[in-house]
Amino acid sequence: MSVSRLFVEADLAAGIEAPMSEAQAHYLRHVMRRAEGAEVRLFNGRDGEWRATLALRGKKAAAALVGERRRAQSAEPDLWLCFAPIKRARIDYIAEKATELGVAVLQPVLTQHTAVERVNIERLRANAIEAAEQTERLSVPEVRAPIELDRLLGGWPAGRRLLICDETGGGPPIAPALAGLDAAARAAPWAIVVGPEGGFAQAELSALRRIKDVVAVGLGPRILRADTAVLAALACWQAMVGDWQQPTPRLAVDFRTSKAPV
Ligand code: SAM
Repeated sequence: MSVSRLFVEADLAAGIEAPMSEAQAHYLRHVMRRAEGAEVRLFNGRDGEWRATLALRGKKAAAALVGERRRAQSAEPDLWLCFAPIKRARIDYIAEKATELGVAVLQPVLTQHTAVERVNIERLRANAIEAAEQTERLSVPEVRAPIELDRLLGGWPAGRRLLICDETGGGPPIAPALAGLDAAARAAPWAIVVGPEGGFAQAELSALRRIKDVVAVGLGPRILRADTAVLAALACWQAMVGDWQQPTPRLAVDFRTSKAPV
């Protein structure tokens, strides 16, 4: 039987009781039909992953009695994804895929051609949590409130390198650009920025290029949809700079692990 893996806010240590959210309790009890004592795995982004056993409380609630630690906490690469919000289904897709691809921060950016006004941060966070549970991550990316591009750039953190996906042919192909990075650049914190369906305005590309330690790159000869460009850029960066450089750990994981709602 697959073991459910759940993100919780509570601190995790042997012997404590971690409360389940209402949605998690419902999912475990009535969707997965888990009984008292069933094994669950918990992580909170700080304390690693722990084995726990389900304790049913009354008709609806549940908690998890924490046992031993299964995996020590490990960090994801210090990588931000700055992306112009796009329409609902595809922005959910970006949150899910960026989580699977190890992003630490999801930063929606409002640009001149951004067609979407409102971003449901709570829904993006729920997508990110669900993806983190499924992908065996030990953390959930931080989902930030949307910010105008000029404000983002005005407060750009010193030392964070910026990879601009520039569809106007303003930069070298991504592969040689990343292959040519020196050791200091590879070890630095990074951000990747992808524009909206309508692309970046020329003035925005100029403002982006004024950031110190910036690399503008092309993602091949075709114009990609914004969500495709996010995946392509993240995969290239992870493969050439990030943690895809390490062998896949032998995760003692039950690949039938089911993911739970938050
Ligand atoms: N302006 C075009 C349009 O309206 O169809 C393309 C915009 S594209 C859908 C959205 C974003 O994806 C771009 O702003 C860019 O960041 C990225 N992108 C798409 N294709 C790309 C490519 N071939 N090279 C670099 N970036 C690309």
